[in-house]
Amino acid sequence: MHNCDGCTACCKVLKIQELDKPGNTWCRHCKIGVGCGAYETRPEACRIYECVWLQTQRMGKPMALELRPDKSRVVVGTTNQGEDIVLYVSPDRPNAWQHGAFLGFVNDLLGRRINVFVSCNDRLQKL
Ligand code: SF4
Ligand code: SF4
Repeated sequence: MHNCDGCTACCKVLKIQELDKPGNTWCRHCKIGVGCGAYETRPEACRIYECVWLQTQRMGKPMALELRPDKSRVVVGTTNQGEDIVLYVSPDRPNAWQHGAFLGFVNDLLGRRINVFVSCNDRLQKL
């Protein structure tokens, strides 16, 4: 991960097979709010992963800071070869995507006829 600036949200929300880490559980290597405690030896999945928020930071229209996953509590990913959006949320905040500026982001996607799914503990719901 690069330029996450202290966001470590995906180190909790996502499954990491190489680490036998289930979703919605902090990785044992995570320094929460700081970064990876095993940066040099982190698995390939971690080396290549970039959430959509991070990807957009290199683009002309970066997602706002308030939508960063540690603040919004939603990790935005893609599926269907990048065509569709998946919103990964924790069971303790399953409706995080419905709040504040994040809802505006979701409505913008839906308005552009992009398929959006919410993933919570492996349950996938299409919006
Ligand atoms: S959720 Fe995105 S911004 Fe946050 S640590 Fe992971 S890749 Fe970085
Ligand atoms: S190994 Fe590092 S980057 Fe990968 S999930 Fe754990 S803390 Fe995050």
